[in-house]
Amino acid sequence: MPFPVKGIATQGATEKLGAFDFERRDPNEDDVHIEITYAGICHSDIHSARSEWGPAMYPMVPGHEIVGRVKAVGGKVSKHKVGDLVGVGCFVDSCRECQYCKEGEEQYCAPGCTMTYNSLERDGKTPTFGGYSTDIVVKEDYVVGVPANLDEKGVAPLLCAGITTYHPLKKAGVTKGHKLAVVGLGGLGHMAVKIGAAFGAEVTVLSRTAGKEADAARLGASHFLITTDDAAMAKAAMTFDFVLDTVSAKHDYSQLLGLLKTRGQMLVVGAPPEPVDVSAFMLLFKGRSISGSLIGGIAETQEMLDFCGKHNIVSDVEVIKGDYVNEAYERMLKSDVKYRFVIDIASLKQ
Ligand code: NAP
Ligand code: ZN
Ligand code: ZN
Repeated sequence: MPFPVKGIATQGATEKLGAFDFERRDPNEDDVHIEITYAGICHSDIHSARSEWGPAMYPMVPGHEIVGRVKAVGGKVSKHKVGDLVGVGCFVDSCRECQYCKEGEEQYCAPGCTMTYNSLERDGKTPTFGGYSTDIVVKEDYVVGVPANLDEKGVAPLLCAGITTYHPLKKAGVTKGHKLAVVGLGGLGHMAVKIGAAFGAEVTVLSRTAGKEADAARLGASHFLITTDDAAMAKAAMTFDFVLDTVSAKHDYSQLLGLLKTRGQMLVVGAPPEPVDVSAFMLLFKGRSISGSLIGGIAETQEMLDFCGKHNIVSDVEVIKGDYVNEAYERMLKSDVKYRFVIDIASLKQ
C-alpha cells in the first residue's frame, strides 16, 4: 500500500513552492525507505523548478541532496539496514546494462538515468519526487552510506555539490603542485575549494563578490581574485593548471581560458541555461581544453563520502524551515548564501 508523505512542490515555472501531500510506494524487495532529515537546495533545483533548462514536469518536488535514516528495508536488501544514516543524490535508478552503467558512471546511462525528481521511473510513466519531503523510497543500489563522524546537516550537500566537484577534480588528477582556480563561490564552489585543497592543490577563488575573500581563505583557498578586476585578471593570465567553473549564469569562458597555462584544462560543472561563446584561439594556441561533467557515479559518490569522512569535510550550511524555500531561492540568485541552504525536514511535519 502506498503511504502518505508531506513535501514541498511547485505547480509551474512561475509558481511559488508550497506544501504538497503525495504518496510513496511501499518498499519493494530491493527498496530502502528513508526518513529524510535534511535536504540541500542546489541551484539546479531553481533551474528545474523554473523550467530554465526546458519544459519541466509539474507538480515538482525538487531536492537531490538527501540525507536521512533508514526506516524500513525490502526483503532482499543487504547493503543498508534500519537505523543507518544514508544519502541519496541526483538519480535513483538507471538501466544497469549499458556501457556507462557497467563502468560505474550511471549518470551517463545511455537510455537515461532516472533522476531523483522531474523524471520518470523505469516504467516510463511514474513521476519521481525529490528530497523536499519527509520520506523517500529508493532502490538499495542507489543509496549510499554516510560516515558516522560527519555532521548530518552538512552532509546533505555532499550528495550533489560534493560529488559534482570531487568527480572532475579526481578525474583530472588534481593534486599537490597544481594551481587550481575555482570560479564562483556558491554551493559547488565552496565544496570545490575544500576538496581541491584536500587533494593538495593550491586553490584560488575567482568571484564577483569581494565580501567572500575571508571565507575563501577559511575554506582552504590560498588566493582570491575578483573577476571584474581587469588588472588582477590580466596578471593571473596563464598561471593555472586547472579552472573549475561552477557559475550558474552566462559568462565569458574565453576570459577564464586565458588564465590557463599551456595544456591547461577548464572543467565545467556550472550549467547556465544559455549557450556560451568560446574563442577557438584561446584553445588552439596553448593546447588548452574544456570538458564538462555531470555529478558522479554511485561507487564514486560512496568514495567521495568516505574521503570526506576521513578529511572531516562537510558543507557550510544555513539550516532553514520548509516555508523559507522561496526566500532561499531569491537569496541564492543574489549570491547571498553561506554556502548552502539545507531544509530541516522535521519542519515539514509541524
Ligand atoms: P550557487 O550556490 O547559486 O552558486 C553559483 C555561484 O556562481 C554564485 O555564488 C556566484 O558566485 C556565481 N555567479 C552567479 N551568477 C553569476 C553571474 N551572472 N556571473 C558570474 N558569476 C555568477 O549555485 P550551485 O548550486 O553551486 O550551482 C552552480 C551551477 O552548477 C548551477 O548552474 C547548477 O545547475 C550547476 N550544477 C551542475 C551540476 C553538474 O552535475 N554538472 C551539479 C549541480 C549543479 P560569486 O558570488 O562568488 O561570484
Ligand atoms: Zn545539484
Ligand atoms: Zn545504463
